[in-house]
Order: sequence, then C-alpha cells, then structure tokens
Amino acid sequence: MAFAYDDSNIFARILRGEIPNDTVAQNDHALAFRDIQPKAPHHVLVIPKGRYVSFDDFAANATEAEITAFMRLCAQVCTLEGIGLEDGEGFRAITNAGHHGVQEVPHFHLHIMGGAIMGPMIG
Ligand code: C5P
Repeated sequence: MAFAYDDSNIFARILRGEIPNDTVAQNDHALAFRDIQPKAPHHVLVIPKGRYVSFDDFAANATEAEITAFMRLCAQVCTLEGIGLEDGEGFRAITNAGHHGVQEVPHFHLHIMGGAIMGPMIG
C-alpha cells in the first residue's frame, strides 16, 4: 500500500480541529494556513481536506473537484499574500514526498514561500 494514510498525522489533526492553525483561506476541499516555522517572510501550506499522503497520491487519486479547489486556493494565497506575479515579486511552491523528499508530515501539502529571493534548492 504505497499511499496508506495515517489519520494521526498532525495535519489530519488540524483538519479535525484538534490543533489550532493560522488559517489564511479555505474552500470546500482545501485549507491554507501559515507554517508554524516559516522559512520565508510569507510561508503558507496548502493542504487538501481529503486523505492524501503525498503529491503523487493526490495527483493520481483526487477528484477533479478536489484538484481544482486545491489549485484555486493556491492562487488565492498568492493574491492574498501579495506574492503572485499579478501584483507581487514571485514565490516558490514546493512539495516534499517520502524519504528522499524529506517529507515530515504524511499528508500532502504544498509550501508556498515568498517575500524574499529564495536560495538554491539543494545547498
Ligand atoms: O514538507 P514537510 O513535511 O517537511 O514540511 C512540514 C511542514 O509543516 C514544516 O515546514 C513544519 O514547520 C510545518 N508544520 C506546521 N504546523 C505544525 C507542524 C508542522 O506548520 N503543527
């Protein structure tokens, strides 16, 4: 089972309201909140509300409605944070998956980071 989901992971607990979060925006299928240990002036995590372990799990198995809602929320975050190319200076969006990706939380999340020039991807 490559994509076995663990309901005890910290983002599942956030989605159940068991742990507080600093919400930026949300819709029916996705939640955006500030990373508790920001690595950039703007550092927002976007997560699906469904039970997906990683990017490849989400990309393969999420419904079209979930994928669309997730992507639209990402765009909304860029606008709200003022980092999108429409009216800002840009951002980095990354997702870590599994052991080689050094994923800490096994619930798919996209890091959206901006507000400064990002460093190299691998130091
Ligand atoms: O991609 P990765 O799984 O390594 O990142 C997990 C991220 O979740 C970290 O940047 C960490 O600071 C963040 N986090 C959080 N709130 C928590 C636990 C972790 O924002 N309660």
